[in-house]
Amino acid sequence: MFPDVKLHIAGEWRAGSGGQTLPILNPATGETLSQLAVATRDDLDQALAAAERGFQAWRKVSAFERSKVLRKAANLMRERADEIARIMTLEQGKPVAEAKMEVLGGADTMDWFAEEGRRAYGRVIPPRAEGVMQLVIREPVGPVAAFTPWNFPINQAVRKVSAALCTGCSVILKGPEDTPASCTALIQALLDAGVPGDVLGLVFGDPATISSYLIPHPVIRKITFTGSTAIGKELAALAGQHMKRATMELGGHAPAIVFRDADVQKAVQVLGANKFRNAGQVCVAPTRFLVHDSVFDAFVDGFVGLSQGLKVGNGLEDGVKMGPLAHGRRIEAMEAFVADAEQKGATLRTGGKRIGNQGNFFEPTVFTDVPLDARIMNEEPFGPIAAIQRFSDDEEAFTEANRLPYGLAAYAYTRSAETATKLATRVESGMMSINHHGIALPETPFGGVKDSGYGSEGGSEAIEAYLNTKFVTQAGF
Ligand code: NAD
Repeated sequence: MFPDVKLHIAGEWRAGSGGQTLPILNPATGETLSQLAVATRDDLDQALAAAERGFQAWRKVSAFERSKVLRKAANLMRERADEIARIMTLEQGKPVAEAKMEVLGGADTMDWFAEEGRRAYGRVIPPRAEGVMQLVIREPVGPVAAFTPWNFPINQAVRKVSAALCTGCSVILKGPEDTPASCTALIQALLDAGVPGDVLGLVFGDPATISSYLIPHPVIRKITFTGSTAIGKELAALAGQHMKRATMELGGHAPAIVFRDADVQKAVQVLGANKFRNAGQVCVAPTRFLVHDSVFDAFVDGFVGLSQGLKVGNGLEDGVKMGPLAHGRRIEAMEAFVADAEQKGATLRTGGKRIGNQGNFFEPTVFTDVPLDARIMNEEPFGPIAAIQRFSDDEEAFTEANRLPYGLAAYAYTRSAETATKLATRVESGMMSINHHGIALPETPFGGVKDSGYGSEGGSEAIEAYLNTKFVTQAGF
């Protein structure tokens, strides 16, 4: 049984007032799992009115009490992890073990923000005159409009919703239409834990219609979006036009540099696992592999072997390491990347084709010696395609790493302290992970630079985006 998905507005789960629905598809089989409610303008107006009421009430609840609610929700997620993971695999495709890790990771994120919210301290600034007090106070920014994608239906939503709730904001979440049910389970856990109904809205529908109505609306004080750079730029422009604060977590095209002194086998194993995790539909996936000439053949042989050894299939089956792509649009995108790379003269080492004619399965694909004007070297692949390039001088690798307008994650393997220091300072990215894959923990900053966006969704930095700073000064009577 797969649940029908409704909207959550003003404390009620309801169908869209226009009666319209969208099908929720299983990407492993193409079957329709159930139906998703679509929000109308009237539904959005009601969600906005609830968010305003909810904010006025929730901001008065103490940070200590809000923290308890988030912790309770985290425990509910842990209790429900198996059931939610199965739902996620059915609608999104990833192997069920990965789905369960995402649910449990979501619980850890809630725990982290539960603690951060209790420590959103202000400060006292020493005055210039006797009897004067100078206080810096942190206040919740107000009702938040959050937009999250389908690749990590829980992880992308939980970071935004937890940061908003722990600081006293209300939220309207526009969840992912392709994978709505697991995101709904997250919202249900928060409501069951005691988040008041007006404080947390969940809507689905036509993304552009919803964002173009919510962002300019006077009730909404802050926008947060995860998705493609192209859409992020549109939404950031709209937010700017209406003077709304914004956090933008956008696309990436992560360089992974393997230097001559690297542990090549470790690099193959760790980078390979992370390249194909979630079928490559990960904004921080390593995607442009830059490998020193002296270890190039060993790296390519190992990487191709790993790719060919991956068991691709339905994420509910035992031993499957890579599921289908989440929707049919990604298959078309992969086919276009492959055709373009071949036409430009890249060498296809393995993969390159759709698997079968049922479900959105695509072969783990590896290209080498890809011309820099091929689309795969310039656009975020967001799928199971790796492009491996060679370099002979380290400077070439730094230049290539910084060539694109993206700047989200970067990876490198080296045994040299000097090279590691250069990497930390010279690569233009929001996150750099050297000799392991250590990105995306709740307690560490998560965000990009350049066209990959702005703001952080992890670490102590993350709640800044949901707080206003007010200065209060007072003299004696
Ligand atoms: P897309 O750009 O249409 O959608 C990406 C996400 O943005 C979806 O969740 C969608 O609902 C939302 N969206 C789209 N238009 C919107 C709008 N006007 N207002 C509000 N939300 C909107 O693309 P897609 O086909 O679903 O995915 C393709 C590309 O999106 C990928 O190649 C990748 O670059 C990017 N993407 C990035 C992430 C990430 O984690 N950074 C996640 C998903 C998709």
